[in-house]
Amino acid sequence: MTKWVYNFGAGVNDGHAGLRNLLGGKGANLAEMASIDLPVPPGFTITTEVCTAYYDNNQNYPADLKAQVDTALTRIEEAVGRKFGDGAKPLLVSVRSGARVSMPGMMDTVLNLGLNDSTVQGLAVGSGDARFAWDSYRRFIQMYGSVVLGVDHHRFEEIIETAKLDADVIEDTALTTEDWQRVVEGYKAMVAEETGKPFPQDPADQLWGAISAVFGSWMNPRANTYRRLHDIPANWGTAVNVQAMVFGNMGDDCATGVCFTRDPSTGLNEFYGEYLVNAQGEDVVAGIRTPRPLSKAYAKPGEISMEEALPEAYAELNKVRDVLEKHYKDMQDIEFTVQQNKLYMLQTRAGKRSAAASLRIAVEMADEGLIDRNTAIMRVNPAALDQLLHPTLDPKSEKKLFAKGLPASPGAASGAVVFSADEAELRAQKGDAVILVRIETSPEDIHGMHAARGILTTRGGMTSHAAVVARGMGRPCVAGAGGINVDYGAQTLSAGGVLLRAGDIVTIDGATGEVFAGAVKMIEPQLSGEFGTLMGWADQARRLKVRANAETPLDADTARKFGAEGIGLSRTEHMFFDPLRIGAVRQMIMANDEAGRRAALTKLLPFQREDFAALFKIMEGLPVTIRLLDPPLHEFLPHGEAELAEVAHALGMDEAAIKARAEELSETNPMLGHRGCRLGVSYPEIYEMQARAIFEAAIEVAKTSPAPVPEIMIPLVGIKRELDITRAQIEKVAKEVFAETGKTIEYSIGTMIELPRAALMADVIAEGADFFSFGTNDLTQTVFGLSRDDAGKFLPHYVEQGILAKDPFVSIDVDGVGALVRIAAEKGRATKPGLKLGICGEHGGDPASIAFCEAVKLDYVSCSPYRVPVARLAAAQAAIEGAEKNSTD
Ligand code: ADP
Ligand code: MG
Ligand code: MG
Repeated sequence: MTKWVYNFGAGVNDGHAGLRNLLGGKGANLAEMASIDLPVPPGFTITTEVCTAYYDNNQNYPADLKAQVDTALTRIEEAVGRKFGDGAKPLLVSVRSGARVSMPGMMDTVLNLGLNDSTVQGLAVGSGDARFAWDSYRRFIQMYGSVVLGVDHHRFEEIIETAKLDADVIEDTALTTEDWQRVVEGYKAMVAEETGKPFPQDPADQLWGAISAVFGSWMNPRANTYRRLHDIPANWGTAVNVQAMVFGNMGDDCATGVCFTRDPSTGLNEFYGEYLVNAQGEDVVAGIRTPRPLSKAYAKPGEISMEEALPEAYAELNKVRDVLEKHYKDMQDIEFTVQQNKLYMLQTRAGKRSAAASLRIAVEMADEGLIDRNTAIMRVNPAALDQLLHPTLDPKSEKKLFAKGLPASPGAASGAVVFSADEAELRAQKGDAVILVRIETSPEDIHGMHAARGILTTRGGMTSHAAVVARGMGRPCVAGAGGINVDYGAQTLSAGGVLLRAGDIVTIDGATGEVFAGAVKMIEPQLSGEFGTLMGWADQARRLKVRANAETPLDADTARKFGAEGIGLSRTEHMFFDPLRIGAVRQMIMANDEAGRRAALTKLLPFQREDFAALFKIMEGLPVTIRLLDPPLHEFLPHGEAELAEVAHALGMDEAAIKARAEELSETNPMLGHRGCRLGVSYPEIYEMQARAIFEAAIEVAKTSPAPVPEIMIPLVGIKRELDITRAQIEKVAKEVFAETGKTIEYSIGTMIELPRAALMADVIAEGADFFSFGTNDLTQTVFGLSRDDAGKFLPHYVEQGILAKDPFVSIDVDGVGALVRIAAEKGRATKPGLKLGICGEHGGDPASIAFCEAVKLDYVSCSPYRVPVARLAAAQAAIEGAEKNSTD
């Protein structure tokens, strides 16, 4: 015989917290609480297996279910000394749904079930409070009528409103027994009219009606949608809990409430919650009456806390708080009711909390000895750390919403409006905080985006240039705010009839996409305290090293502040866009022959040397991976006519010649064009200059600081010969510089693995490489045959329709791209057992991708500076989970 029904309370607990899948979260925890002697009204849980059986069997219950329910109900009757449907001492129950995970869309709880025209009399006499009995009856008809019978709740409210008008009162609580009796009559008549049947009077009919409604709600459209969005399989099913009622609405020594064992927004170890005297169930959250604070500490002047109003019950609850935390070893979200000063527990579960609270609670619980450090590490969601690393808007401060766009990069920023990257840089150098406002951004705006506190664009989506670059830099960004009209000529932006000018202050919230006119108060992030403690623990637990992608001193500084253990990717082309150098870059591109190119490159050499020296100094001997020039040359040439003329004039060159060269260089598909090491093969002098800058800088810095460890990285290698040729260029320069200076420096030469061919040929390529760095952005593009810049048009639909589980540019595609990474790692190590392996795509900061990197045992991940803490924590979690897995199988 299958056990379909599990008892809890009054000394018989068939279930426990471990049976969540079978009993649902609510049922499992009611049994658990009862089994540790907390005051839980007795009841029983009908298992989730009944739900599955019900749907598998054409919506019929298992044959022996009814008998099991009857037995369990009899047990409750005996435990509380009341009988279901008894005219003198009626048992009333609640019917509550409860799946494995809490799920909106499921049927609401029905309270006071078992009341009818006869039992209401028994309740009135037994409690000595007729008003309470009739109030309970009308609540029951209302709840059952709307939840189970599907009567529109407005129909009930109309009847109460009429009753209040007739009695000339404002509050529900002012209605008398007779008023409630009239309301009940009105309800019954209305329900009969609406459903064509009288309101069910037989408690057994009521009970099975409610049970069937819970199981029925499992397949309603709302629940189906929620399950689809959250990957919850339909065959999990829901459980049904039937529980003896306790009454919080029997007078002023009664109450109902919800609370958290610690403050869920700050994490402070304070008892936090709300309660209402003389109230039932949903009254606290329904908003009809304003709930009061639980503890004195949170009461405002004039508010009476439960601590003061019901001191005995509060003391009892405070003890329960302690017991529950010690038992569950986590912050709990509790629902309770007080009946005539006696406390009853109705629910407990792990409480939802803010990012800041999760951090504080994890660290404090470990310090209290409640959990160990690894558990503390696992408790904090790495993605949520992002919120903590940026300033946020003070929720208490006043704001004027100007417009809304996409939340493209988290953090909040205020500053003066500027419309160009140059102006942003100029004003930032003077110490002004600026917000760069553009219709959209392009690679030429990088320096301005860097200088700005935040970026606002009116066009483009979450993967637009502005969004991707801002996230990388850790700059707050609101993208695609289509409601804003930007006029570069007039230097204004307007939205909804409000006009702002250059220099006016705006505030953006990159976490919500909101834009406000004027300054808004900010809360600065806290990097010490619990944050520092938890990161320290994470560092002890992880195996993967964490580096940062950084090319400017500011980024490198930030990276170190956040704990980066080196630079995993320094993109040298970003250094070329600087206004002081772009001229020489363009001269190099325009030169007709190698001599001309070398002349221009000679001008660039000192700049590059300075760039690298600055990075090396900041990194103090930590490894620095420098990628040689990667993008196609035409990216450095001017685009529009006006700009073209300007550049020609500045360089003293012929406009037509520049135009012709730009056309010559233009490509149909630049992503697959003349770029990466292909440039190095065609123009050896470019990589030679960069290598020279690296070696000279390293030797210079080594004189006064810890010796730098440059790792020179060749991009877009697909054929071993490409690596051989470019490697030879670098080694030749190294020899020259070492001979010229009489000093040597340790260095290594490696390659990006970002083409499928490179991954498949990794054993051969490894012969010429000291390290591999997986460039998973390009690898994803080339494995899928998908351009990231164009994918925004359809990729979101792919994810919505479940064609792809996740955006493969955000979280690594383990099956496809990951397979190539695995192959390359294995083949590479087969050739060179000590080959250093890292990852430097956007994926390096994504927790799920980091777990994959741990699984294939890469040596390090590299991500944008602001994501370094996220990566440190995610790497620790991956290591802990990996160790747990190994010890269980
Ligand atoms: P939800 O899943 O929406 O939280 P619950 O099943 O927890 O729904 O019920 C909501 C509220 O109803 C509870 O917080 C409690 O106040 C009240 N309630 C449920 N069962 C009982 C009961 N047996 N006695 C008294 N109140 C109850
Ligand atoms: Mg609840
Ligand atoms: Mg690349």
